[in-house]
Amino acid sequence: MVTITISGAEKSGGLARITAFFMRKGYPLKSHQVVESPSGAKLVKISLDITQLDKIKLAAEIKSLSPDFMVVSVEGSQSGSAPSIKEIAARSPDIAPLVQAYGESFGADTRDRELAEAGKKIGAFQYEKEWSFGSPLKMPVALRRTLVPALEALGKVDATDTQLTLPDSPFCGTGKIPCCEFLTGFMQGFLEAGPLTHDTRVQKAECRAKGDSSCTYRFDYEL
Ligand SMILES: [Zn+2]
Repeated sequence: MVTITISGAEKSGGLARITAFFMRKGYPLKSHQVVESPSGAKLVKISLDITQLDKIKLAAEIKSLSPDFMVVSVEGSQSGSAPSIKEIAARSPDIAPLVQAYGESFGADTRDRELAEAGKKIGAFQYEKEWSFGSPLKMPVALRRTLVPALEALGKVDATDTQLTLPDSPFCGTGKIPCCEFLTGFMQGFLEAGPLTHDTRVQKAECRAKGDSSCTYRFDYEL
């Protein structure tokens, strides 16, 4: 859990504006209260059910709500800022916890897009690093011989020629913010990096976070 203390919100409506901001951003709000500092100033304390928060970005966003608001402290965040894409790539294949932290550092309005972008870069990087040797493959052979083995390092994968399913995606656990758009991006970046697969489009079709039994991705390509 991360607890954020904000000053300058004693005017009426301050707490409401701040909580509305966190809810709009899609943060899981655990509690909010107004406390008094030793000097008598009123402080807003917000607790979020996340493990990681980008303090610098949050401070700027809070300031943009009102110039009076100021982030005084952020407690409980596992590190000062979200992991970088480079840090995530370097930890491959043990990347699920870092991807989770990366995803949680964004609000719901931009999270999926940012996760997909990060996934694309890491997927392309993985392809270049491990799978670009030998003669380039076309779909669906590329899917079976390169993408599926690359993903099996991350978790159990079932694949057909046009669809790939993760029954237990490490990026989409119960009670956690779903981060499985990372994989949409990963597969897209991986296939785009292949000379004969770069026209393939990847789309998430099913997701455990939406109540489906697994996370499933669909591939569109021309033979
Ligand atoms: Zn999912």
